[in-house]
Amino acid sequence: MAFETWVYPATLILEHRVPAAAEFLTRMVDRRQGGLPYFRVLLDGRPPVAQHDWPDWGDMTARFAEALAMARLMTGSDRWLGSERELFGLLLSFFGEDGLNYRSKTDWSGDDALLFDQSRVLTTMVSWCMLGGDERASRLARRQIDALTRVAEKQGEVWRFPGRAYPRGGRAPGREGWVSGYDGGSGTKGLADPCYEGGVLISPVVMLYDMEGYDPAFELARGLVNWVLTADGIAEDGRFRDHVHSRLATAAGLLRYALLTGRDDILERGKRAVDFALNLSTAFGWVPEYVERPEGCEVCCIMDLLDCLFLLGRSGQGQYYDVAERVIRNHLVESQLRDTGWLPTGQPGADSERTSTSGMPQRLFGAFAGWSAPNDFIGRDVWALQNCCTPAGIRACYLAWNEVVGGDWMNTRINLLLNHAGEAASVRSWLPWEGRVEVKVKQAKPVEIRVPDWVEHTQVAATIDGQAAPLAWSGNCVKFGEYGKSSLQPGQLVTVTFPVRETTTTESRGGATAGNPFTVHWRGDTVVQIEPAGTHYPLYSRRAEAAEQPEEREQTLVESPGAIAWEPLGD
Ligand SMILES: [Zn+2]
Repeated sequence: MAFETWVYPATLILEHRVPAAAEFLTRMVDRRQGGLPYFRVLLDGRPPVAQHDWPDWGDMTARFAEALAMARLMTGSDRWLGSERELFGLLLSFFGEDGLNYRSKTDWSGDDALLFDQSRVLTTMVSWCMLGGDERASRLARRQIDALTRVAEKQGEVWRFPGRAYPRGGRAPGREGWVSGYDGGSGTKGLADPCYEGGVLISPVVMLYDMEGYDPAFELARGLVNWVLTADGIAEDGRFRDHVHSRLATAAGLLRYALLTGRDDILERGKRAVDFALNLSTAFGWVPEYVERPEGCEVCCIMDLLDCLFLLGRSGQGQYYDVAERVIRNHLVESQLRDTGWLPTGQPGADSERTSTSGMPQRLFGAFAGWSAPNDFIGRDVWALQNCCTPAGIRACYLAWNEVVGGDWMNTRINLLLNHAGEAASVRSWLPWEGRVEVKVKQAKPVEIRVPDWVEHTQVAATIDGQAAPLAWSGNCVKFGEYGKSSLQPGQLVTVTFPVRETTTTESRGGATAGNPFTVHWRGDTVVQIEPAGTHYPLYSRRAEAAEQPEEREQTLVESPGAIAWEPLGD
């Protein structure tokens, strides 16, 4: 990977949020069980208690492994490489002969392959395929797709899974391996759901097809898309019920499938689902985990939302980048725990087979919230971390980092106004203190810079290398240079300035959370205060970056390639 040193204002740098989260992950594994992650942390214990639970196998292990790889790529640090290798090794050990990824029998889990787990594992396998050089990932991903195809129940064009878990070695007449009424412990009760068991698989399956042209992947994706659409997992008008994380992950799958196949009707259904989710959420990116219980936000939902917003942005609907910028600057980064002094303390006991209290609560520093209120790290009545949410926080930062500079062979496009080092261009941003963004051109192409949706076009000014530059608008972007005629040249510096809007809004999302409705104070796209303040760990109360002019410091950052690119893990 390449590094670049430049002077940046001390405003948000996403890369700087990642190391504490990665450190947290390395502290959230069970050394006595080969590094198996803990899914849950009960924050109201004295001290807090890390606890194993039903998703600790494929689901948690895959997310932890992928997040540590992403942290390494974003920061250029090898600090967590030992844990990353251990987690990948553990994840591989869970694969059965048949290609599915299995849990083990404990008091809180069955000896089975959860369908939801398969989606998280396959996502990590597909990410790992992009490492280039490790053929194990590609082979295992294809085998997993073959196995899912084999166990899917096919009703014409609709492929579905009859149960939530596939018991290891289970056999039932007429249904290979599915056991009617099987109850493999917590996490497996109830009927299979078209989004939770099916839709969440579409994204990684489409990504593998896109990358390797593996035809069975395309057929599986099509069958699952048909299940979601015909069973109204996401209704015609975009509405859905229940668990937002799996619905937004499904929406991302529909968008990817639609962009691959050119199916505008499916793109529209995915877009409506995203609009429905935005309507449940605050403008600053608090996304409820449940439609019917809108009181807690899992960072997993923020991650899926950003994935969808970027897909829509890339499909030509640039207004979704405005939404994404507000999500990133606010509830994504604000959901990270940066002070453990307020958490309960107590004498840790000896670790048990299921629980661990050593090092608590300091051990939790850097975690991302598992159930936040719009104004508090602790959402209504739930004192817990879900450890899916910290890898989701890293993944969301990674997706955003990769999206700052976009474009194609004809132009470079600045999608997000965040400090960033990229291969095609680097960006420094004085927002929210000052409406000033500078772009260092690194490839000879025209440059488009997105201007926030609250800026009057007549109030924008620009210079190139200090000389006033004329403004040409292309949608919500100002454009400099024209392909084939007057491209900008590497080394040129484009500066765009505009006044920053200060505004106050009222948000009534958050259900029965105390203090709802909230008064929200904004500077540009950044929330600087929420009233009333939260009571346990108030969010938006330490936002110094908006209060004083940022210092400028030299930073050495990894140059993002602008598309997911990995480097070999090595042995
Ligand atoms: Zn989560």
